[in-house]
Amino acid sequence: MDHVLKLSPIIDGHNDLFAWYFGCNYKKLPKCPEDIADYPLDTLSKGQTDIPRWRNGAVGAVQLNIYSDSLSSFLDAYDLLFRLEKVYNKDLQIVQSADGMRKAIKNGKIAILPMLEGSDRLESKLSNLRLFYKLGLRCVTFTYTTGDLADGSDDLPKHNGISPLGRSMVKEMNRLGMLIDLSHASAKTMSDILDITETPVIFSHSNARKLCDVNRNVPDTILLRLKANKGLIMLDMVPDHTTNKFANWVNTGDSIYYATKKQFPGDKAKLRTVMDQWELENPKPTVSISDIADHFDYVKKLIGVEYIGIGGDYDGIEYTIEGLEDVSCFPKLLVELAKRGWTKTELKKITGENYLRVFSDIEKKSKAL
Ligand SMILES: [Zn+2]
Repeated sequence: MDHVLKLSPIIDGHNDLFAWYFGCNYKKLPKCPEDIADYPLDTLSKGQTDIPRWRNGAVGAVQLNIYSDSLSSFLDAYDLLFRLEKVYNKDLQIVQSADGMRKAIKNGKIAILPMLEGSDRLESKLSNLRLFYKLGLRCVTFTYTTGDLADGSDDLPKHNGISPLGRSMVKEMNRLGMLIDLSHASAKTMSDILDITETPVIFSHSNARKLCDVNRNVPDTILLRLKANKGLIMLDMVPDHTTNKFANWVNTGDSIYYATKKQFPGDKAKLRTVMDQWELENPKPTVSISDIADHFDYVKKLIGVEYIGIGGDYDGIEYTIEGLEDVSCFPKLLVELAKRGWTKTELKKITGENYLRVFSDIEKKSKAL
């Protein structure tokens, strides 16, 4: 396994370190303090990501989500990224191209490709997209919730897929050579974008809907179209995207939580008692490395190994798969796949080679446009 990872380190499709820095996805983003020491990366963090664990996980590159809740906090977070690169320059290097990523990996750096999860942070403006391209933004999750551009997977639909403005955004992303990420899009949005994109697309962190029937996973019909598009699905390490049993457990827990909150407004003690009792009677199901390896086998059988990558979603998740608790754990997944007969050539493709092929293709096609 060491040999595989030396030749082709992990390129992680989605990391939410910045969401962890700023509290959690659902809390308001605090202002970036001026003291960079508040954002340590060189020691073991309490979250799921830091430089020592990236190193132990043989991670060579990361699509790092510059988490924010508005255009202005996105700018603050982007500034923080540049400052982190400067402080940790022995380990980190921001890259803007497939070749840049290859070189950084070769020089022993962890290449950071800035990505943005949700184009509404750009206020759905093409001008903002172009400006952030100049700042090095290379991957945008097209929609997180339903916004002006398109419908999200777990939100009320508004456009029946993609809006006219969304179409312009796809064209502009094609022209610039940006990676269009379809994770969190509704199935109709996925389909609409596949109809019009002139470059390959990616799913930065999604699994197969056939094995775990949640809206944000990818249906077989779309996976087959992804193969024709020569794109990439980066399978994620999230228990509630991996087994139906776990997804149902989360959904039931959520509905009880919100119903209790509504019934006893402001009564935090009551809410805690009800949830503790529920969890006692309904213990959290276990999701194993074997369960997520099933998604890799399934997608490989359906569309082939060429279109598969890995997208951890670490620090953006509350629950973890047993044995895959943080960014240091990726090699354990590969060991499981090797046990199932995946060859070294196949493993090198999913760790990084497929991603770099797709990124290079996007750059080439954009030049031609
Ligand atoms: Zn996400």
